[in-house]
Amino acid sequence: MKGPATPDFSRLPSMTTLLEGAAADAELRCLPRGPLTDALREAADELRDRLRRQEGSFDSADAVARILQSAREKIASRRATRLTRVINATGVILHTGLGRSVLAESAVRRLADVAAGYCSLEIDLSTGQRGRRGQYAEQLLCQLTGAEAAMIVNNNAAATMLALRGMAAGREVLVSRGQLIEIGGSYRLPDVMVAGGAVLREVGTTNKTHLRDYEAAINDNTAMIMHVHTSNYRVVGFAESPGVAELTRLAHSRGLVMFDDLGSGALLDDDIWRAANEPTVIESLRTGADFVAFSGDKLLGGPQAGVLLGRRETIDRLRRDPMARALRVDKLIIAALEATLELYQDPAKAKSEIPILAALSEPIDSLTHRAEELAAMLREALPAETLTVAQDESFAGGGSLPAWPLPTAVVRWTPIGGTSVDDIARKLRIGDPAVLVRINQGAICLDVRTIPMSDARGLTEGISLMKQPC
Ligand SMILES: *Cc1c(COP(=O)(O)O)cnc(C)c1O
Repeated sequence: MKGPATPDFSRLPSMTTLLEGAAADAELRCLPRGPLTDALREAADELRDRLRRQEGSFDSADAVARILQSAREKIASRRATRLTRVINATGVILHTGLGRSVLAESAVRRLADVAAGYCSLEIDLSTGQRGRRGQYAEQLLCQLTGAEAAMIVNNNAAATMLALRGMAAGREVLVSRGQLIEIGGSYRLPDVMVAGGAVLREVGTTNKTHLRDYEAAINDNTAMIMHVHTSNYRVVGFAESPGVAELTRLAHSRGLVMFDDLGSGALLDDDIWRAANEPTVIESLRTGADFVAFSGDKLLGGPQAGVLLGRRETIDRLRRDPMARALRVDKLIIAALEATLELYQDPAKAKSEIPILAALSEPIDSLTHRAEELAAMLREALPAETLTVAQDESFAGGGSLPAWPLPTAVVRWTPIGGTSVDDIARKLRIGDPAVLVRINQGAICLDVRTIPMSDARGLTEGISLMKQPC
């Protein structure tokens, strides 16, 4: 049988017709002309291709409507890749996919204030002379930790690379096999070592590394012993490795540099870290390590940054590396970091005002109470659905505290009528506000630990506005 005749493409609407159609469309008419014509042209091209492949029928009367609809979808899916505020109902506090730490209000205000005008980035206002960017944040870091000197760079990966370049380029660095970490795929210690121009010398085994393994590996070309905090995993069971203090003694007795990559950056000298078995910055510095590095946006609760603390001589040397310029932070980061560090001057304030610290230490009674409140709000919005409060577990996330259970309370939503939870989760993700949930045993779980009450109302509205799947 012969197929249908080739469609008459001249009957496809012109761009002028499409633009007229868009001008009458409530959604499309708000768009700037550039992205609008791009989306219309793409949609028209696709329709033409489909017709050429003889898929579907061609009725010039509905071609305009079809192209406009397809353009609307294209614009919506492009918008979904835009950086968007998200409600995190997953219970993963430092969610890497959701931007790790959330800034304290004072940090947000400082950031907005500095962004809205000129600022004293490299001017010392008291003298009018040139100042060093980040100097105040560095002073705060020294004051809070007792370090001699501090340096702030783009992230901990940058801090580590700079440390290796400055102190061990072309020479060997001893690392235990139990500490060859990978953080989120693109950060793998052996690769960072290469990028820093140092030679990785693995010592010991995955589960056991002894001090004598380090001793035996030292040769004329050894520059450094590096201790890496296994921040996102733990080696448990028949396991052993020397601590930073022991390694520092060995390093110094053999004229080597001791570097502690702490990763998470627990800055408070506080019980929560002892309970979680998480080494703190202060403890690390007390061992006498020459320098330590950690992230600004993990347990510190600030913006993305890498902090290097150590002896003045060492830090000054790293500062002179031309690469330091490429890895430096901008004024917005400095503003947020300074305001975050100021909160640490009063530890009680840090614990209550830095959102991730508050989330980590919220007691179960308070969580249960908040989960009940949220469930009540949601029952009003979704009267037909089954919503219960249940016990569950939250996670610190962001490559921190992997073995620390955080009992929490969640609102469990078991959809009626066999609606797919994945379908609901997808609708919530693309909703306004965007909501990310945890799915557990056929239910949508909303963990209140990562949902401040200010988000709970938005969450309820978002869920009730979501096109009812049922
Ligand atoms: C997270 C982490 C890093 C990487 O830090 P970024 O700030 O993400 O670059 C490096 N080392 C350790 C031990 C870490 O935990």
